[in-house]
Amino acid sequence: MNRQPILIVEDEPNIARLIEAYLKHAGFATIRAADGRRALDLIRDESPRLVILDLLLPEIDGWSVAHALRRESDIPFLILSAQKDEIDRVAGFTAGADDYVVKPFSPRELVERVRAIIRRYEAGSREGHPAVLRAGGLELDPERHRVSRGEDEIELTLIEFRLLQALMSAPGRVQTREALIARLYDDAPDVIDRVIDVHIGKLRRKLEHDPSLPRLIRTVRGVGYRFAPKDDER
Ligand code: CA
Repeated sequence: MNRQPILIVEDEPNIARLIEAYLKHAGFATIRAADGRRALDLIRDESPRLVILDLLLPEIDGWSVAHALRRESDIPFLILSAQKDEIDRVAGFTAGADDYVVKPFSPRELVERVRAIIRRYEAGSREGHPAVLRAGGLELDPERHRVSRGEDEIELTLIEFRLLQALMSAPGRVQTREALIARLYDDAPDVIDRVIDVHIGKLRRKLEHDPSLPRLIRTVRGVGYRFAPKDDER
């Protein structure tokens, strides 16, 4: 059994205790941080299995923790927030969050979402030796979680990596936004199409020579996206 703890980052002790009780009951080990600075220390020292991250925190806020987390690791995280407008939701996924729960929330549902993320995440690393993908001059190594062009490694967030993996696994084939969302998020009926567009935009800025004239990730109007290897271009 995996005893790596789940890190709960929450400054309201009652909420932190509630989450902890439900996770422990579900068989997870837990650790807690009540501010952003402590959260970053624990992320570095304990490499938690997953992070539950409140956004409004003392010392360092949740957004900064999210960005630092994504820069430094592939640890999955779920954002917990009292702010429910759509912009925050988009920004949450853009920061690389694996899911988003709005307060007040049902602790049972939170535990279910934690399980879903862990299932999705650990299934990906259990598949043995998944094939290295090569297309359009890029090489994507699922096992080492690495994307490169020649000698140059390209830094991607976890979501960008999964999106590129989905596109590169079927070069030349059109994939709808809905299909891509389904591949990226197990259980996210409220993820909006625009989230995919935001991540595609970021991928293009990292991968394309001219992001305004994308040659690798092509838009198929009204349908979705297609990964087109360079050889197909004219
Ligand atoms: Ca808070």
